[in-house]
Amino acid sequence: MSKSTPAALPADYHTHNRLCKHAEDKPAAYAEAGARAGVTAVAATDHCPTDERFGIEHRMELEDFPTYLRWVRQAQEDAPLPLLLGVEADYYRGCERFLAPWLDRHPFDLVLGSVHFLDYWAAKPEDRTLADHPDRAHIWRTYFTLIGELAGTGLYDIVAHLDLPKKFIPPPGERALRELALPALDRIAEAGLAIEINTSGLNHACKELYPSLPLLTWACERGIGLTFGSDAHSPARVGADFDRALAWARAAGYREGVVFEARRARRVPLPP
Ligand code: ZN
Ligand code: FE
Ligand code: FE
Ligand code: ZN
Repeated sequence: MSKSTPAALPADYHTHNRLCKHAEDKPAAYAEAGARAGVTAVAATDHCPTDERFGIEHRMELEDFPTYLRWVRQAQEDAPLPLLLGVEADYYRGCERFLAPWLDRHPFDLVLGSVHFLDYWAAKPEDRTLADHPDRAHIWRTYFTLIGELAGTGLYDIVAHLDLPKKFIPPPGERALRELALPALDRIAEAGLAIEINTSGLNHACKELYPSLPLLTWACERGIGLTFGSDAHSPARVGADFDRALAWARAAGYREGVVFEARRARRVPLPP
């Protein structure tokens, strides 16, 4: 039985499970951990498969997707809080061919959109990841170009970890960041996508929430909706550092966030 949408944030809209091969446990354990952590809802958003095995070493196999659906459905029966069905789907050039019809066929509550690679299948290894290209400006430029393209596809609801390259390389200065990121933020706003504050950055080399405060402020100025995610790969991290995420949201000017159900966003006030 599905439970009603929560009336307040924060909900944790970014969690994984063991089907992706680098996380622990099942969605039910994340829902239980969410209730203990005091979040209002949890979304299962494991790494989405494709039919061409994009990044397959870090995501569920396409043939495991029915297992994922079953796990989430079962967990929804006894979960102590609303558990949403989601997926974290990579954007890359050409992904629409598979993703557009496939996402439509399944009853998702929300779809996170991510860019984890510059070009997964590039001939030269340094062109593949967000870490390895010797020209770091090239990484940031290409990354935000891809984020803008992601927003234009109409496939996603929430842009995940908006400045992810800082996991691997230093961020550009604020002036350069503005030039690189504002076109992408404008496209996110035009397309009506939300972004998330993702607390996993605090555990990465950057030691900072995703996205940075300037990016979050520019997003707020554009009226872009906001969600919260721990990106937990183990149940113990559900809702981790959400107090800091709320403070970060307020510092950027946010007074409300969005909740999702059946891929529809609704604005709700942030908790006091
Ligand atoms: Zn992961
Ligand atoms: Fe991700
Ligand atoms: Fe994730
Ligand atoms: Zn992620």
